[in-house]
Amino acid sequence: MNIHEYQAKELFEKYNISTPKGYVTDNAEEVESIISKLNGKAVIKAQVHAGGRGKVGGVKLVNSPDEGKTIAKNLLGSNLVTHQTNKSGVPIEKLLIAQTLDIKKELYVSILIDGDLASPVFIASTEGGMDIEEVAETQPEKIFRIKCDPLIGLTPYLARDLSYKLNIPESSIKQSTNLFMNLYKLFIENDCSLVEINPLIITNNDEIIALDAKVNIEDDSLFRHKELEKLYDPNQLDPLEERAISANLAYVKLDGGEVGCMVNGAGLAMATMDITKKAGANPANFLDIGGSADQNGIEEAFKIITDDSEVKIILVNLFAGIARSDVVAKGIIKAAKETNSSLPIVVTMRGTNADEGLDLLKNSNLNITTASDLFEAAKFLTEILPNLGA
Ligand code: GDP
Ligand code: MG
Repeated sequence: MNIHEYQAKELFEKYNISTPKGYVTDNAEEVESIISKLNGKAVIKAQVHAGGRGKVGGVKLVNSPDEGKTIAKNLLGSNLVTHQTNKSGVPIEKLLIAQTLDIKKELYVSILIDGDLASPVFIASTEGGMDIEEVAETQPEKIFRIKCDPLIGLTPYLARDLSYKLNIPESSIKQSTNLFMNLYKLFIENDCSLVEINPLIITNNDEIIALDAKVNIEDDSLFRHKELEKLYDPNQLDPLEERAISANLAYVKLDGGEVGCMVNGAGLAMATMDITKKAGANPANFLDIGGSADQNGIEEAFKIITDDSEVKIILVNLFAGIARSDVVAKGIIKAAKETNSSLPIVVTMRGTNADEGLDLLKNSNLNITTASDLFEAAKFLTEILPNLGA
């Protein structure tokens, strides 16, 4: 789960990680008085669940309360499109108005879980700021990694080593070392999957301050972080993704495809997408109904797929173990009838109650083609798709 920058910064403050003084508002009129409080100069930052704001006008330096109000009016209520969003962007509902600082150097620091190393890893660079992605591509040697043993954690020695590698001035080493220790503590105690500070700045007075903040919380840990769970902001998600999360389904939108894939299990999703591609078609999304979806869940799954306007054909690939094919079939039939969907559906079903499920589908009067296996399903896809003008 993603949280907003201002929420991440509140968490940082709890862990004694310095951030610029700032105020959050959803009201352009209020921006004027906030900027006056900040001595007339401020940075206005769109609060959205996406990075890359600085490059597209989502982070603006302003020199007067009046200028701030005008900019706030333009930003609030609009959508911000960055390289990390889809083409419709994400809504700007709140602004963070923060004190401006004199930046001597922008650094990059993050912590994430490296699955291969089975450890938290610090990733850092002296070349922080808005072009970090470019640095990663063109000068990968400027980005270094420090593995933290999950049992020992980040030792003061490693934190100091990190400070030296980042060329932190001698007089600020104690400050930065404490900051890295605190950041690690925050990461572990809040079950984060990512914390990122880009940029972490060195000011002209050699202070070390988190100018930006990104925190992702591991979804599976939210049951033990009730106060963090409250920070969930559904408006920042694609509406179909939001519906899938609410229904406990795993839905991923993919760009440029035309086949809606309904499967159970991540491995089956991968195989289904591979076969779809091999058949010369492209997946528009995949929706994993998991093992425990009931008929209502299946209905919602089907509706989410049909509400994706890019979907021209639906491929259902079910390997029923705990899931029951007849329940899935009933869910599909009910949802297709309720939505008046005329989209062609290609289905393979194997496992628990597969024959019952296939019989229900065949007798449903829907536009359904049943296939005996995934290869046959792919063959049907290639036969049907050209007739749809896809
Ligand atoms: P992002 O583009 O979404 O990652 O947003 P950031 O919060 O990282 O801001 C983008 C850039 O704006 C930073 O890399 C800084 O160069 C600049 N910036 C942000 N806040 C300030 C500030 O207080 N003073 C100055 N001079 N620049 C700032
Ligand atoms: Mg940033």
